[in-house]
Amino acid sequence: MKYAIIIPDGCADEPQDSLGGRTPLQAAELPAMDAIASAGVVGRSNNVPASLPAGSDVANMSLLGYDPHQHYTGRAPLEATAQGIQLGANDWAIRCNLVTIEDQVMRSFTADHISSDDSRQLLAALSDTLDCPALEFVPGVSYRNLLIYYAEKGHAEKGHAEKGRGENETAPFSEDTRSTPPHDLTDKSVINDYPRGPGSDLLNQLMSDSVAVFANHEVNQRRVASGKLPATNIWLWGQGRRPDLRLFADIYGRQGTMITAVDLLRGIAVLIGWKKIEVAGATGYTDTDYAAKGRAAVEALAETDIICVHVEAPDEASHEGDVEAKITALEQIDRHIVGPLHAALDQQGDFRILVSPDHPTPLRTKTHSHGAVPFAIAGTGVEADGNQSYDDVTAAASDLAFAEGWKLMKYFLDLVES
Ligand SMILES: [Zn+2]
Repeated sequence: MKYAIIIPDGCADEPQDSLGGRTPLQAAELPAMDAIASAGVVGRSNNVPASLPAGSDVANMSLLGYDPHQHYTGRAPLEATAQGIQLGANDWAIRCNLVTIEDQVMRSFTADHISSDDSRQLLAALSDTLDCPALEFVPGVSYRNLLIYYAEKGHAEKGHAEKGRGENETAPFSEDTRSTPPHDLTDKSVINDYPRGPGSDLLNQLMSDSVAVFANHEVNQRRVASGKLPATNIWLWGQGRRPDLRLFADIYGRQGTMITAVDLLRGIAVLIGWKKIEVAGATGYTDTDYAAKGRAAVEALAETDIICVHVEAPDEASHEGDVEAKITALEQIDRHIVGPLHAALDQQGDFRILVSPDHPTPLRTKTHSHGAVPFAIAGTGVEADGNQSYDDVTAAASDLAFAEGWKLMKYFLDLVES
C-alpha cells in the first residue's frame, strides 16, 4: 500500500462575507479534493490541544501521528534540527524572526519577506555586538532565523570549562519562559508581548540591542530606498530544548518522505526518521512552484511508503488577510499536487490519500487558531460516506471526528478502526 498526505497549511477557515458566506475551501474550485471526498470520507480532527499554542509545530506533530502533549518542546528546536544543528541535552534553540515594528506595532512579522541575504548581514552585525559566548545566531531562510544557547559555552564562560556540553549546566530559560509568536501580533501592539519569565531579561536585551544595530544599517537604507519595509528588530520566541521523538517506522511500520519548503516540517521529518526531498522552486510562500512539488511527489512514490507534501502558501495568504491569494493557493494545490498524486496512486495498486491542514488560520484574525480542521481520505478499503465536497462545513457535520488529532494517522494507515 502506498500513501500520500497533502497538507495545505492553515487552509481551514470561517465563512467569509466577501465569499457570500462561504469558507475559502467552499469557494475555491477544488475538483481533485472533492473527488477524494466523493470517493471516500470527510471528517474533522483537532491537532492542537487547548493547553498548547496553536502553532504549525504542535499541529503538524499531531497530524503526523505524535501526541504533542508527550513530545512538544517548542518550535525552534525542530527548526534547528532541520538545519543540521545537533542540540545537546541542555542547549536551547530560540526562533529569531526579523520583523518590522513601528510605534510598538507589529507591522510585519517577516520584515516584508526579507531576503536571506539581507537577513544574514543584519544578524552578522548584531552578532558582532554579542558578549555572551553561549549565544550563536544561525541564519536560515528569509525572516526565519535561529538563536542557539549552547550550555557548554555558557558554562565555559562562567569558568567551569572542565565540564562537557550539556553537563550540569543549564541555560537561564525554563518551561515557564513565555514568548509570543510575532505572527500572532500582526497590526497589534507588542508592548505586552515581550518575553517574560526565566531568561527573559537576556532575550529582551538582545531584542533591544537589535533596534540600535539595525536602525541605520546599510541593508535597511537600501531596503527603504527601494520601497521595502526595513527590518527594525529581531523577535525572539519558540524557545525549547531538543524533543524526544520515536522513529515513525518503529511506531507505524512505514517509511515516509517529506516535501516542504519550511524548516519546521523538515525538522520533524528528520526527528521521526523520514527522508526529505528538496524541490527547486519551493519557496514556502504563495509564489511557490506547485507543479514542481507535485511532480517530485509523484516521482517519489516508487521509493517510499508515504509521500507527504506540505504547502505553506494558504497559511501565508491568511496571515496577510488575502482571501483571493488563499483561494488561488488552494486551487493550485488541488490542480498541481492533489490531482496528479491521486491519479498516480490510482495507477499503481493499493493506496490511500489524505488531505488535511494542520490548523485553521482564519483570514479574520490573520493568525493560527485552535479548533478542528477538515480532512478527506480516499483509497483502498475506504467506503464512501456520501459527502461530495472537501470543506469546513461538510467536515463540521460529519460523524467522523478525532478529538485528538494524532490518532488520525493510525486510522489513515488502516491500522485501527475509527
Ligand atoms: Zn501551519
